[in-house]
Amino acid sequence: MANFFRRKPAAPAETKPAGSEPKPRRRDFSELKPDPDKIGISGSVPFVRLPDPGTLFADRAARLIAAAPGHPMEAYLRFVAEVARAQASVQAAFPPAEAPAAADTALRAEHGMPPLSRQRLEADAGFDGCLTALLDQLDLSVSPEASQAARASLLAASPADRLDLAVQVVEGALPVERIAECVFVAAALQVRFAQDAARLDASALKPVADGVCPCCGGAPVASVVVGWTPADKARYLSCSVCGTLWNHVRIRCTACGSGEGISYYGLDEVSKDVQVETCTTCHSYIKHLHQHRAPTLDPVADDIASYGLDLKIAEDGFRRAGLNLLFIV
Ligand SMILES: [Zn+2]
Ligand SMILES: [Zn+2]
Repeated sequence: MANFFRRKPAAPAETKPAGSEPKPRRRDFSELKPDPDKIGISGSVPFVRLPDPGTLFADRAARLIAAAPGHPMEAYLRFVAEVARAQASVQAAFPPAEAPAAADTALRAEHGMPPLSRQRLEADAGFDGCLTALLDQLDLSVSPEASQAARASLLAASPADRLDLAVQVVEGALPVERIAECVFVAAALQVRFAQDAARLDASALKPVADGVCPCCGGAPVASVVVGWTPADKARYLSCSVCGTLWNHVRIRCTACGSGEGISYYGLDEVSKDVQVETCTTCHSYIKHLHQHRAPTLDPVADDIASYGLDLKIAEDGFRRAGLNLLFIV
């Protein structure tokens, strides 16, 4: 029998008094900057860590392979591992798109917009080649028929149709009848956006809004407490599209910004280093990974591997705030 339990916050900074919670309020963007007091560390931490496509996908594939044996979702973990392996291969074989023009980036920043956008995808002549190469080299011999059919359907589609689907994925408007195809399109998008993000000037990036990637405007997959900042235990959100990590104050909802009514839950059969952070203000939750204790935890891989937590927390009426483009449920 699964034992679902509430964990006390791990750090003193996470301890909150019960009751008399103030109402959530709108904040100005300056509050989204790292707040050492609230994070519980001294000194400043980097606002973002840009992705390294050279290791991001290969490490993810390795993590998925390690988590697969004996897992209730072993087949799916192995399928996503194969997708990540293909992503690693394609990112090495395809040069990134031309860097965004500095004037464009500056103009977008002036208007509070992230530098990477849907328009950039539409102008990326290399996207379709990257997607078809990824499809061509996937070994789906042990994957479900639906995945094999989705690949065939995408390869038979026109480049314009593939681009149209990619734009829908970037905009978060995934067509239900093409979900299996969306997973492959998203995999190619992750490669292109990670390559783009990797070349941005991190020092020029500014907060956009709660739960919004400052590089591409994407939603977070999961929250990660990292071990590599100048002081330990800073919290970052991991972008579902470009893989950028951006700092987010601890004990604050990533969906509505409320700092009240936040709790952490774990499940016996899931690693103790993976929890959910729930918010009773908006009834959403997001996975919360203690990477400082387990450095190989990966936001995408461990979100899937901890699906038992999703099932359990959904029973309590919480909706998922994180978006995992390789595991659309
Ligand atoms: Zn992003
Ligand atoms: Zn909330």
